[in-house]
Amino acid sequence: MTTFGHPEFAGHERVIYVADSATGLLAIIALHDRTLGPAVGGCRVFPYASEDDALSDVLRLSRGMTYKNALAGLPFGGGKSVIIADPSAKSPALIHAFGRAVDELQGQYWTGEDVNFGAHDVEVLAERTPFLLGRTKGATNTGDPSPFTARGVFAGMTGALEHVFGSRDFLGRRVAIQGVGNVGLNLARLVTEAGGKVTVTDVRPESAQRAAQELGADVVANDAIYDENCDVFAPCAMGATIGHETIPRLQAKIVCGAANNQLATADAGALLLARGIAYAPDYVVNAGGIINAFGDFTGHYDVADVTRKVDAIADTVIKILKSAEQTARPSHEVADEMAEVILATARRQQSNSKP
Ligand code: NAD
Repeated sequence: MTTFGHPEFAGHERVIYVADSATGLLAIIALHDRTLGPAVGGCRVFPYASEDDALSDVLRLSRGMTYKNALAGLPFGGGKSVIIADPSAKSPALIHAFGRAVDELQGQYWTGEDVNFGAHDVEVLAERTPFLLGRTKGATNTGDPSPFTARGVFAGMTGALEHVFGSRDFLGRRVAIQGVGNVGLNLARLVTEAGGKVTVTDVRPESAQRAAQELGADVVANDAIYDENCDVFAPCAMGATIGHETIPRLQAKIVCGAANNQLATADAGALLLARGIAYAPDYVVNAGGIINAFGDFTGHYDVADVTRKVDAIADTVIKILKSAEQTARPSHEVADEMAEVILATARRQQSNSKP
């Protein structure tokens, strides 16, 4: 498959292939749309089975970043990068080689954490380029994004509760959380503090047990989470869990979680709609981390401002779910369209202001 002919290529500005024979680095950087600002999106390290799989992933993810940043109200475009490697092959030299490629783009692309690329790796990258978000040792030091991502998911959940049940109250509500890692555990804490009950599952039994001991969470087997009698299903592990097999099993009235790309198939949103399940789009509710990292871009980190913007995700979710209900359309399509309107408006303003 050629890059230009790839079904996910449409709308992309640039795709940069990076190779470094000294370290074995093979990477792809995709810049989707820079209408609103520099392309921003994390770096994923994954042993893709083929170059085509890596290209599909980076193109899909960079478009998602454009929409996510637009709806989060950030002056960022969308981008993403993937390093084709087993995470165990990550060495400082390989990260440095990737850092040189990011640096050559001179701020057209800013990157940070993603799957298999953590806070420590970002600091190694910082030895070669300053165009980084989610710093733990930088001047602004916005640090671990996960608590803010969890707060954003929680805010999205309150918005969805209000839309579906007419009240943001968690009392008497049960949330089933799939994956209690960095985001899921913080989310479980927030739900419990708000008076809600949580059921959790995790492929690492010790993570689920921690939630049980700390929060009194009920623990179920991995596959049983889909059948759990609950009000909200929160996917906080991996993507593509909401599809033909799982949607008929869901007891929840709301799906709202942190995982990226939750919908497994193109018709999953329509299937949720047909079952009367409100879906708070993943990229809308998991934007808390990037909202927090914004301070590394401006050099000014204001936690109160971050918190206010993250909490505003509740209102964005209400707006999306209301519009989806009124037009009988899947909520993720409504969200994409809202992002497209923001981009079209910005493009019009930019072309009007050109001499
Ligand atoms: P994490 O790795 O800390 O936690 C994921 C948890 O899910 C782990 O405890 C893991 O054992 C568990 N898990 C994996 N497969 C599972 C399965 N099949 N069933 C049950 N549990 C399973 O990751 P995280 O940082 O908490 O992120 C969670 C999700 O949210 C990811 O999809 C991530 O891409 C997305 N996300 C995270 C952030 C962030 O700020 N960390 C921001 C945006 C999106």
